[in-house]
Amino acid sequence: MRRVYLDYAATTPTDPEVVKAMLPYFGEIYGNPSSLHSFGAEANRAIETVRADIASFIGAKPEEVIFTSGGTESNNFASKGIAYANKEKGDHIITSNIEHHSILEPCKFLEAQGFNITSVKVDEFGLVDPEDVKKAITDKTILISIMHANNEIGTIQPIAEIGEIAQGKGIYFHTDAVQTFGHLPLQVDDVGVDLLSLSAHKLYGPKGVGALYIREGTKIRSFMHGGDQERGLRASTHNVPGIVGLGKAVELANGKMDEEATKLSMLRDKLIKGILERIEHTRLNGHPVKRLPNNVNVSVAYIEGEALCLTLDMEGIASSTGSACSSVSLEPSHVLLAIGRSHELARGSLRFTSGRYTEEDDIDYVLDVLPPVVEKLRAISPLYKTEAR
Ligand SMILES: *Cc1c(COP(=O)(O)O)cnc(C)c1O
Repeated sequence: MRRVYLDYAATTPTDPEVVKAMLPYFGEIYGNPSSLHSFGAEANRAIETVRADIASFIGAKPEEVIFTSGGTESNNFASKGIAYANKEKGDHIITSNIEHHSILEPCKFLEAQGFNITSVKVDEFGLVDPEDVKKAITDKTILISIMHANNEIGTIQPIAEIGEIAQGKGIYFHTDAVQTFGHLPLQVDDVGVDLLSLSAHKLYGPKGVGALYIREGTKIRSFMHGGDQERGLRASTHNVPGIVGLGKAVELANGKMDEEATKLSMLRDKLIKGILERIEHTRLNGHPVKRLPNNVNVSVAYIEGEALCLTLDMEGIASSTGSACSSVSLEPSHVLLAIGRSHELARGSLRFTSGRYTEEDDIDYVLDVLPPVVEKLRAISPLYKTEAR
């Protein structure tokens, strides 16, 4: 059976060149980068090269890049690390109501610890209004954390405007750039961020490795305590193969980013147009223009996204609903509710995210398969029978 992977926002396939670059670091180059001998030095050279490459990719200094175990850790590190290190100064944090769970949950945790969280609301397209951020600032605000682009609906936030506001007030600004790093160009000074989270497996690198950019001079508390790796900011022996893989992924992104974004936007627009034209009672979630080049998110009225997702899977198509196909919780996505979708439309959401290995005939295949699948499911939907006609 034909298999079409359209869930790149959940994870990307590892690029074969990344795998090739990593292999020696599982074998002959096995030293601990913290060791003094030549085995260690060799591994250390490898990770320091990656650190410098990531730094130059975002216009930062190598010392400002800290390796972590991925996006979740970087987001936890940024939020809790800033909160605890700056609580003498203030106890207020501003974020949005469409952040990834790895920001929402740390914020909930911090709230239980006595911090005050303001969650600014987004508009119907999922956009944060920088004015709302500005209005939420108090003299106790120590951190603003707004994601660069949303993983579910693909909306790209005006982070440069938010960064300018934060800088003007001397408040730390963090952005979760997991969905955009290596996909859209970003220079930390242009957008005024002090902290930026990234993850390798969202840009064709391995899972379980990422980084946090921390602007020089930022007061942040260590999150992992132990050895003095990463200048004492993040203990634990480095994941050398993972870091090398991340480095290779960044190198590949550097050369392909613009070309891929152009190709993917074309495929995205074709898929959106095709779905809206061929299937009635569907609507696009997220911003029509300010959106990730690879993100399509639609609500299909009168059906459960889960049923759609599973039926498409039987046809070889990997998609996602809510935020993960096998999502354990039955609660509809907080992001879709935040942009004003009803519970019913939020539950009927379907996300297709494409990437490096997606071809136009994959999109054609979805456009052939999806309409009859929707029709079949609607035929057995009691809601469709009573409401749609
Ligand atoms: C995937 C993702 C994360 C989590 O990254 P992991 O490396 O999987 O922990 C955080 N934020 C966003 C926006 C993501 O898409």
